[in-house]
Amino acid sequence: MPARSADDMPLLRIEGVSKKFGTFPAVDGLSLDIRTGEFFALLGPSGCGKTTLLRMLAGFETPDEGRILLGGRDIAPVLPHERPVNMMFQNYALFPHLSVRDNIAFGLKRAGMARAAIDTRVAEMVALVKLDGMEKRKPDQLSGGQKQRVALARSLARRPKVLLLDEPLAALDKKLRESTQLELMELQRRLGMTFIVVTHDQEEAMTMANRIGVMDAGRLQQVATPRDLYEAPASRWVAEFVGDVNLFNGDVTSRDHRRLTIATRDGGAIVVSEPREPVTRTVVSVAIRPEKVKMSRRGPAPDAAGSQAINRLEGVVADVSYLGGSTVYKVKLDSGAVVRSSVANTARFDTDTYDAGQRVVAWFTPDDCVVLER
Ligand code: ATP
Repeated sequence: MPARSADDMPLLRIEGVSKKFGTFPAVDGLSLDIRTGEFFALLGPSGCGKTTLLRMLAGFETPDEGRILLGGRDIAPVLPHERPVNMMFQNYALFPHLSVRDNIAFGLKRAGMARAAIDTRVAEMVALVKLDGMEKRKPDQLSGGQKQRVALARSLARRPKVLLLDEPLAALDKKLRESTQLELMELQRRLGMTFIVVTHDQEEAMTMANRIGVMDAGRLQQVATPRDLYEAPASRWVAEFVGDVNLFNGDVTSRDHRRLTIATRDGGAIVVSEPREPVTRTVVSVAIRPEKVKMSRRGPAPDAAGSQAINRLEGVVADVSYLGGSTVYKVKLDSGAVVRSSVANTARFDTDTYDAGQRVVAWFTPDDCVVLER
């Protein structure tokens, strides 16, 4: 086998890292590789251990077990301020008595950089985050978005190899959060730096990150691109945590030419395409995203899915939620189960809509179903 070149090495390797607080395992045997230039998001519910993991990377917490390698070297002995890793805190942690300029310059001064070099670097950072003209202001003379930029400039000033961002946009309102997401992405691409962002907001993770690690109870449940996470969730938990999903529990009753028939608990049957990894268990869940569930009054046209068999479910519209870009219909099936269908509103004042109480057919193809073993 050829020797691995340095280029194959991940920038950051987390190897079986655990951290307990008392007897509580906040991070539990977690392994993960992150490559140079990645925008990586750690996504998970509150308390799942995201911040603890980030703090271990920054050096503010010491792992009880496992190793963290940066460029192939164990960073355990390296003090936080000597690591080429910097952290931007959720509440920004700006010094209230220092000006914008001095906040940005703080780490540079501590590192012993010469005054002229500091001035040049601060000017560069101020331009980078578009704070020109605000250098003399104190944090309490800035808006939330401007404070966020100062914190960002301060954490980038020492040109770390890896920037850790703990809920960087949580304090901003929705509109500002969205525009700042785009700015962060643009900045990360321009600098070619590795960003690891912690968030519990899945839309934010999906918008910004190249890859997402979904965490629960101190462990990684899945690491994948945003698309794979959504289209091919590895478990029921991930399917439910990332986006909206319809789940049917059932048993595999037959298998024919890569098609599985699953008898569902409500007495129906769903035909699904067998995934690449063959399904070995008989007790499974079938996940189908609401936008993959089509709706019509009479059901699909005969050629609606080419040669595909179609899963056809009949029922009555129980609930309608108009969301602007789409409308979500909750359909109570004749079997008693409920299925949600999300229909894109493609035309202004669409006439192809359904009202509560109306009988409809909901349908979807075997290829759009994800089989999850239980
Ligand atoms: P959030 O999104 O709410 O910030 P998180 O996923 O970042 O959550 P952590 O802050 O890493 O979660 O915390 C993980 C678990 O460890 C939580 O149950 C928390 O209460 C606990 N924990 C964190 N820090 C400490 C500490 N210093 N002492 C004791 N328990 C702690």
